[in-house]
Formats: sequence, structure tokens, C-alpha cells
Amino acid sequence: MENENHVDIIICGGGASGLLLAHGLTKDTAFDHLNILLFEKDSKTQNDRTWCFWEEGLSEWEELIHHHWDSASFKAPNFQRHFTLAPYQYKMIRGIDFYQTVYSRLEKAPNFTRIKAEVTGLIANDNGCLVKTDEGVFKAKKVFSSLPQDHFTKQKKYPVLQQHFIGWFVKTERPIFDPSTIVFMDFDLPQKKETRFMYVLPFSANEALIEYTLFSKDLLEKEEYENAMIDYLNENGSGDYTITEKEQGSIPMTAYDFSQHNNASLMHIGTAGGWTKASTGFTFQKSQRKINALIEHLKHDGNLTHFPQRSKFDFYDLLFLDVLAKYNAEGGKLFIRMFQRNAPQRIFSFLDEKTTFWEEAQLMISFPIGRFVSALVRRIF
Ligand SMILES: Cc1cc2nc3c(=O)[nH]c(=O)nc-3n(C[C@H](O)[C@H](O)[C@H](O)COP(=O)(O)OP(=O)(O)OC[C@H]3O[C@@H](n4cnc5c(N)ncnc54)[C@H](O)[C@@H]3O)c2cc1C
Repeated sequence: MENENHVDIIICGGGASGLLLAHGLTKDTAFDHLNILLFEKDSKTQNDRTWCFWEEGLSEWEELIHHHWDSASFKAPNFQRHFTLAPYQYKMIRGIDFYQTVYSRLEKAPNFTRIKAEVTGLIANDNGCLVKTDEGVFKAKKVFSSLPQDHFTKQKKYPVLQQHFIGWFVKTERPIFDPSTIVFMDFDLPQKKETRFMYVLPFSANEALIEYTLFSKDLLEKEEYENAMIDYLNENGSGDYTITEKEQGSIPMTAYDFSQHNNASLMHIGTAGGWTKASTGFTFQKSQRKINALIEHLKHDGNLTHFPQRSKFDFYDLLFLDVLAKYNAEGGKLFIRMFQRNAPQRIFSFLDEKTTFWEEAQLMISFPIGRFVSALVRRIF
């Protein structure tokens, strides 16, 4: 094709995973000789989301940490657990701080170019990948794309739930929050035959991000999320309150094998690559870990299909989602049993995919075993 622009690496999408990858590649001298191009359609000047994750020790993004907490609570009717997070800390990064910092660092990299453009098509074979955009056609030996995918919505083999929520940053008249402690999950609210909970990140006694969150198949009308947050504030005696910022999300929860759409020259990354933890919707920290591994992989092996994508944890997530999709009204009970019978540190380590088989067995026996055995049998046969 005429007028093709050739580069070594193209990254499609400059959100979390695209920027983590661009940042990782440009700070590693092993890639100094490669031209890297990134396409992003938005200007990224808004705080469109906040990312939270737990972590031991210092973060790669420590200077961007907007807030952190050392303790957490889990709440449900007739059960409450307050716990310190050590050796972890729960950390929050504002999207806008991340975008601005990473883009300004990338501007200093001589081998990096960012183009504000919409990608309209990707055509890949084992020798390279063609990227069509509204700014022209480009070709690269390797393309990494975080553009949303919808293959997983068109299949029946794997259940697909959504982690969907609306969040309000609120300032309340009365001091109703404990600024030292996040509310990781509060199931003490009507479940309406689904898995519904409140997630609260307090910044002071009067300020917090509250999110009404569901793990379920279908999104709600906006008013339903909002009414639940109004009820929550009223029941907790907030008095008057103002909403200073809002966010909302709908993150796919599925054990679908996204890597089947990769080939030697095209890899899907971030949520589009299946890097969202299927059982929770957390993506940021998992993407960071995947990017670190990918950068090491690229130094030794240029074939993108050789990068290991799946592990036993995908199978655990699959069984969990099989049960959660089939018995969505009982999701709260699954999480209650998990927090009643396990140290939170073991739960976080399991969700980080760092546990031993023995620890995994202990976690599994805290769940209603019959449901999981039938899910296992269904998967095997
Ligand atoms: C409000 C919200 C809060 C979240 N909070 C957390 C959290 O606390 N912790 C956590 O771990 N995860 C969280 N997530 C989930 C996940 O971490 C984020 O969705 C994360 O941004 C996913 O990274 P990504 O790179 O896959 O996608 P994105 O960050 O969405 O990046 C994709 C990029 O591609 C661009 N793009 C799309 N189409 C095109 C196109 N055709 N051409 C060019 N560019 C295009 C988009 O503009 C976007 O910038 C949250 C998600 C949302 C929406």
C-alpha cells in the first residue's frame, strides 16, 4: 500500500495499559533503537477515573499516590470485620495525574511520538500489523492495542458479568467517615437478587468517594445507583452533602481467553487483553505486572504469541464466575464466607495471584463446596 508510515512499535490507546507500556519501553535502554508511536483519540485532560490497588512497599507511581490507607473494613448484616492491611497499603491514583505525568515524561523520549487520532482498523499477520487511523495508515512490526474488544460478548462458553458502579466524591455536613479505614465491601444493603455493595474511600471525616457497585449481568438505570447512594448517606446521618466529582464504570468480568485474538505481531493489552482480574474487575496493578513481564519477554523473544497469558488463577476465576453468574443473589454470601474464614492478607495475596496451592486450598474450602464442585464437573464434562 502507498503512503504507509513504517515504525517498529505502535501502541493503540493511551489509557492505563497503553501508557504503562509506553512508559516501560521508553525508560528501558534496550528499546532505545526502536521507534514507538502511540495513537490516542482523546486529549486526556479530564480526571475520568481513579485507580486503586493494594501493594507491599513502594509503588512505581509513589509520587502520584493521591491518598493511601493502612486499614480496611468488610461489612455485612450480622458480620463486620475491621483489619489492618499490613504488609499492604491501599493506594489511590487520580487518572489525570497519571496521564499528565506519563505524557510529559514520554515527550522527553526521542524515540517516542504520540498522535491524537482514532484507530479505525487493525490488520495483522505474522510479519507485521497495519494500523488504519483518521490520520493515515501506519505499519509496525509489533502492535499493542488496548482498544475495547467485544468478542467476549458474542460467545456462550464463558459467563460475562460486569463490575458496574457510579461513584460520588461527597462532602458531608456531619463527620460520618473514618478517614483511616476504607470500606472494601459493605453488603449491608438490599441485594435485590443480585450482588450489590457499597465501596467507600474516605479522605477525611467529611469527605469520601462512595461507589454503589454491582457484580451482575445488566446495568441499572442511573437513578437506581444514585438512590442507593442517597439512602446510604441518609442512613449514615450525613446531613446535607455536596457532590464534588462523579465517576462511573462498567468493567467486564469474564474468564474468556482474550489471548486467542493475538498473533505474532498484534497483542491486545489491558482490559482488551484479558488483564482485568475476572473475579474482581481490578486491572491497574495486574496491567503493571503484565507490562513488566512483557518488557522482559520482548528482550528475548519477538513473537508475541509466546508471551504467557494464562495461569491456574484464570481457572479459579472461571469457577468463581460460573458460581457467581448462576447464583448472583448469593454473591454477598460468598464474600462474607471468604472474609469470615480467611485472613484478609491471604485474600489479597490470592487476588494478586501469588498464593501457594496450600493457601488456595484453604481459601477454596471456605466457599460452599457443593456449588464449586458442580461448576468444576460442568467445566470438565
Ligand atoms: C471509573 C473507573 C474506575 C476504575 N477504578 C479502578 C480501580 O480502582 N482499580 C483498578 O484496578 N481498576 C479500575 N478500573 C478498571 C481499569 O483499571 C480501567 O478501566 C483501566 O483504565 C483499564 O485500562 P485499559 O488500558 O485497558 O483501558 P483504558 O484506560 O480505557 O485505555 C484505552 C484507551 O483507548 C482509547 N481509545 C479507545 N478507542 C480508541 C480508538 N478507536 N482510537 C484511539 N484511541 C482509542 C481510549 O480513549 C482510552 O484512553 C476502573 C475503571 C473505571 C472506568
